[in-house]
Amino acid sequence: KLVSKKWKVKPTSIDLGDNVFIKEGEMAVITGPCSIETEEQIRAVVAHCIENDIKMMRGGVFKPRSSPYAFRGLGLDGLKLWHEIASEAGIKIVTEVMQTSQIEEMYPYVDVYQVGARNSQNFNLLDELGKVDKAVMIKRGISGTIEELLQSAEYVFSGGNEKLILCERGIRTYERASRNTLDLNAIPILKAKSHLPVIVDPSHGIGIRAYVPQMALAGVMAGADGIIYESHEVPEKAYSDGQQTLDFAQSARLASWIRESFEMR
Ligand code: PEP
Ligand code: MN
Repeated sequence: KLVSKKWKVKPTSIDLGDNVFIKEGEMAVITGPCSIETEEQIRAVVAHCIENDIKMMRGGVFKPRSSPYAFRGLGLDGLKLWHEIASEAGIKIVTEVMQTSQIEEMYPYVDVYQVGARNSQNFNLLDELGKVDKAVMIKRGISGTIEELLQSAEYVFSGGNEKLILCERGIRTYERASRNTLDLNAIPILKAKSHLPVIVDPSHGIGIRAYVPQMALAGVMAGADGIIYESHEVPEKAYSDGQQTLDFAQSARLASWIRESFEMR
């Protein structure tokens, strides 16, 4: 397989421009709300990122929701507004693409296309992202195996797009005490099998705000190349996933802990 270490030994480095990288040997910190909500909210998160030297911001404008009646995102207009504010601040945008028709319209405004857990095996979407000259982060499927995640990456890579990032975000197990079960095992295994960078999402991985920091740090120690977690000025008021979202004080602390832990690794 092309994403295998047997094919390429040298770790893949993702260059997002302006000296921002996702790669082995660095620790990418990516934070932001589950959903992009308002201009005021975008400005607050961007300011938080600047204050804490965080160069990549996450957020959804097309949201995959379990209920059709839940908030489904601001769409392309929200992305344009976000891009205007973030690019001025030199902050890179990580956001989910839900279907093939969105790839082109989103293109000028994204730095990393996120493929969500629910679309992890949407092979048409993966095929189309293989033709794009922009980074793609693939999240592990809700009940996806490590091998299936690598196969999904293979779709994009073999299509010609080698700017790929893998993301462990927790899987569904019999355990209901947490939203998902963050599979820490996947991190060293993915790092051993593939040359692609591996990012960990502790927010969706455990789904409980109070335990996000320790799972993030566990991810760092397990060998992750970056952490992506949800933050919001007032998590209780977030349109989605507030229960697993850190406030800015918690986020600032976690960002520095992540960097310190990485230095110690
Ligand atoms: C998200 O990142 O907000 C998200 C919907 O993640 P996942 O696809 O992992 O559920
Ligand atoms: Mn979310």
